[in-house]
Amino acid sequence: MALSGVEIFKHLPKTNCKKCGHPTCLAFAMKLAAKQASLDACPDASDDAKKILGESAAPPIRDITLGVGDKAVKVGGEICMFRHEKKFFNPNVFAVAIKASEAGDVAAKKIEAVKTSEIDRVGQKLRVDAIAVTDEGGDAAKFAAVVKQVVDGVPGVPLILVSKNPATIEAGIALCADKRPLIYAATAENAEAMAKIAKEKKASLAVFADGLDALTALSEKVKALGVEDLVLDSGARKAKDMIEHFTIMRRAAIKKNFKPLGYPIITFATRDNSVSEAVTAAIGTMKYASIIILNNVEKWKMLALLSLRQNIYTDPQVPMQVAQNVYKVGDAKDNSPLLITTNFSLSYFIVRGEVENSKVPSWLAVMDNEGLSVLTAWAAGKFTASKIAQFITESGADKNVSHKELIIPGYVAVLSGALEEKLPGWKITVGPREANQLPTFLKARA
Ligand code: SF4
Repeated sequence: MALSGVEIFKHLPKTNCKKCGHPTCLAFAMKLAAKQASLDACPDASDDAKKILGESAAPPIRDITLGVGDKAVKVGGEICMFRHEKKFFNPNVFAVAIKASEAGDVAAKKIEAVKTSEIDRVGQKLRVDAIAVTDEGGDAAKFAAVVKQVVDGVPGVPLILVSKNPATIEAGIALCADKRPLIYAATAENAEAMAKIAKEKKASLAVFADGLDALTALSEKVKALGVEDLVLDSGARKAKDMIEHFTIMRRAAIKKNFKPLGYPIITFATRDNSVSEAVTAAIGTMKYASIIILNNVEKWKMLALLSLRQNIYTDPQVPMQVAQNVYKVGDAKDNSPLLITTNFSLSYFIVRGEVENSKVPSWLAVMDNEGLSVLTAWAAGKFTASKIAQFITESGADKNVSHKELIIPGYVAVLSGALEEKLPGWKITVGPREANQLPTFLKARA
C-alpha cells in the first residue's frame, strides 16, 4: 500500500544533505510519495529503508537491466508522462535483429556495425545498445550458432533472444546465461516453460499478447509464476497502434499505478524499407518504447535516432554542461592563444569545433557557469570580470601560456575594460560574436 510523504520521511536519513537534488529529506519524501522521484537518488538510504519503503519507493514502471558490465543498459524506471514534469530517466535501447538464417557473413556485418556504431555527441557516447538474435522456423542449432557468433564477435553486448519456442531459447541461453539476456517471449501457450527458464537463468522475460486486455492477463500470470523482471509487447506494430497502446500502458502505470502494465515496453520497428523503419523507431522513441528492435543500423539512421533519443532523455530542467577545465585544442604550446567560454555544452562544443577548424592550436578555458550560455551567464551575473579573473588565476589557465592575453567572446566585449583592471598586466582581446567567425579570427592572428 502506498505510503504518505510523512510516513516515507520517517525512514529517510534526515540529514538534508541535498545529494538527491532536493533541499530537504521531507521534500524528497513528498516527491517519492507522488512517484516523481526514485529512492535510488538518495545514496544514504539504509537497506532497512529500502526494504520498508519497498513498493512505495519503487517507480511505477519497473526498471530492468539487460546485460552485465560496462555495456549493461537499464530501461524503464520512468515516473512521468511528459519529460517537462520531471525528466525521462533511462534512454530506450536500440537493438539490431540478426536472424538465425543470417549466420555467417550477414551476421558478421551487423556485428561490425554495432561495434563501430558509437558516436560522441555533445560529450556523450551514444551507440547501438544490444543485439536481438531472432529465431526462424524453430531451428535451435542455427539459433545457437548466431548467439555464439554474437557472443564471440562483440563480447559484453546485451542480448535479446527472440523465439517463442522454449527449446530454442534453451539452446541460445546456454551460451549467454551469465550475460543477463532478455528472453522474448512468453505467450499464452508457452508461459510456464518460458517463466521456468527465466527463473533458472535469472533472465528478464518479455511477455507478448495481442492487445492490452490479453497482455494484462498474461503479465499477471507470468508474475504469479515468479518472474519479476518483465518487459511487455502488446503486438502493436503500426504507428497508430503503437502510439495508442504505449500511451495507454504508460498512463495506466503512472497515473493509476496499475502494476500489470508497469513494465518497460518492447517493440519491433523492423521494416524492409529503412526510412520507414527509422520513422517507426522515432515514434517508439518519442512515445514510451523502452526497447526498439531494428533490421539494420545504418550510420545515417542511427545518427538521427540517437540524436533524437539524446534530446528526449536530457533533463529539461538542467542545462547540459561540460566540466570546468582548461582544454588543449590541437598541439597547443605556451605561445598559443588562450580563449574563454562558459560550460554550456553547446557553447563548448561549437567553440571547440570552430577552433579545431581553424587549425590554430589553442587553449580553451571553460568556466563553470552552471551550464549557461555566454550571454545568459553574463546577464545572470555568473560571467563577470571578477569571476573570470578569479577563474583564470585559480584554474591555472595562466600557467599554460607564456603570454598574458585572453580572448573573450564578442558578446561580452563590455567586460574587457573591467577585466584588464582585475587581471593587471593582461591584454584582453575581444573575439568574434559568433563562433563560426573564429577560424578567420584565429588564422589572421597566426
Ligand atoms: S539525499 Fe537522502 S539524506 Fe540527503 S537530502 Fe536527499 S533524502 Fe535526505
